[in-house]
Amino acid sequence: MSQRNKIPEQKPEERRKNFKEVNLGYTKEQAEAEAKRCLQCKNPTCVKGCPVEINIPGFIKEIAKNNMPESIKVLKDKNNLPAVCGRVCPQEDQCEKNCILAKKGSSVAIGNLERYTADWEQSLFPKGRDVTHPSNGIKIAVVGSGPAGLTCAGDLSKIGYDVTIFESLHAAGGVLRYGIPEFRLSKTILDYEIHSLERLGVKIEKNVLIGRTKSLDDLFSEGFKAVFIGVGAGLPKFMDIPGENLNNIYSTNEFLVRVNMMEAYKFPEHDTPINIGKKVAVIGGGNTAMDSARTALRLGAEEVTLIYRRTEKEMPARIEEFHHAAEEGVKFMFLTTPVKYTGDEKGYVKEMECVKMELAESDESGRRSAKVIPGSNFKIAVDLVVVAIGLSPNPLLPSLTSALKTDSKGEIVIDDNFMTSIKGVFAGGDIVGGETVIQAMGMGKRAARSIDNYLKRN
Ligand code: FAD
Ligand code: SF4
Repeated sequence: MSQRNKIPEQKPEERRKNFKEVNLGYTKEQAEAEAKRCLQCKNPTCVKGCPVEINIPGFIKEIAKNNMPESIKVLKDKNNLPAVCGRVCPQEDQCEKNCILAKKGSSVAIGNLERYTADWEQSLFPKGRDVTHPSNGIKIAVVGSGPAGLTCAGDLSKIGYDVTIFESLHAAGGVLRYGIPEFRLSKTILDYEIHSLERLGVKIEKNVLIGRTKSLDDLFSEGFKAVFIGVGAGLPKFMDIPGENLNNIYSTNEFLVRVNMMEAYKFPEHDTPINIGKKVAVIGGGNTAMDSARTALRLGAEEVTLIYRRTEKEMPARIEEFHHAAEEGVKFMFLTTPVKYTGDEKGYVKEMECVKMELAESDESGRRSAKVIPGSNFKIAVDLVVVAIGLSPNPLLPSLTSALKTDSKGEIVIDDNFMTSIKGVFAGGDIVGGETVIQAMGMGKRAARSIDNYLKRN
């Protein structure tokens, strides 16, 4: 059986010095060859793995025929952010995992093909395309412009609602903009997708913090008939160990926001500095850790070490990102965790004390837990540390809205229809426990359907 076509990439030794996209995308010949591998199954198991229900064989068939206008039509029918998904979705755990060819060898490269079709549209219509749809004049508010909010807004707009997204930051996109680095998802690509939603009629009001600038009650008073909350999980977690408050110890959020949104890599041309130093340690094993480590390399660190308390097998990061990071020169120290930081006389971190760990029994998530090996302490010199051990639900809106129920983890409680404890207020994405872009989008899509049903009944 034919093997999947590899996507061209920038060479590791080149890309570790720049912020340009690592993956370069298929050529026409590669895309058509890959599309022809698809068996066009009558019962396509790949679709069952897609939270936004894309007609996968449908858009792939059109690539094979070089009928790109039809391919993008099929793709965008279900997915409002195809160029984003083609770049950052963990397809290996979803559609591609369920592809029939995965059992016999290598799955169809669905993500790479999705990216190819979306990029075809962006290169052929750089200013976007107008789409017409019905209008019912009913106003809906969406809080947060991450993938959950953008998807919910797009789907509601397509069926005629008058949707306004309220975003607290000065630019839309949520983690897609402030978290995921340029070398994985270019801002130009993201801007195009957001602009396409605006062309659909979605309005975006930036610098509006719902809960403070206006409350949910204010939104209803302004005539919005329903609200969708997609405020994400932007609260950084720390380990709470001695010395964690020293200078040059960042949360992954602060580090990536400084680089992505405040262009710290252009200091002093832009006024946000990052004093990267020579030796950088990143704590964690997820996508955020991988992104921080690879960003530190590109900022000029001589040595970047990712420190993870379990092994490579338990790392939650996408396998592709792990391989890319290793190729670029990120070092990995597994079964290790920091216990203490020491600073210099000016309060800057200079040393990190770690302990070795060993794997123990599985925890409730099914992953093996890790326990400290007593007396295994050792020290390493560091100039900068990024703590990337996870993020918690954004607490601001719930804390300012007493009627909005949350659970013990701080996630907003929803029913089977994504409705919160407040009538007419729905929620989805990381704020209700999602963990990936596509999960957030899937929830945004299903919530849009529920909102439509709710408004038809009320
Ligand atoms: P977010 O993307 O967090 O968006 C929430 C938005 O709401 C933000 O723009 C925020 O400013 C705004 N907001 C918050 N409070 C308010 C308020 N009160 N009023 C108005 N606006 C408000 N997932 C993947 O699938 N693949 C990856 O490769 C991947 N890499 C990642 C890398 C990093 C560095 C991080 C941090 C996450 C990554 N993830 C990845 C996870 C993924 O990005 C999230 O699961 C997803 O973005 C969640 O979407 P969301 O819409 O729920 O929230
Ligand atoms: Fe094509 Fe694989 Fe989906 Fe079958 S399961 S339709 S081969 S992508």
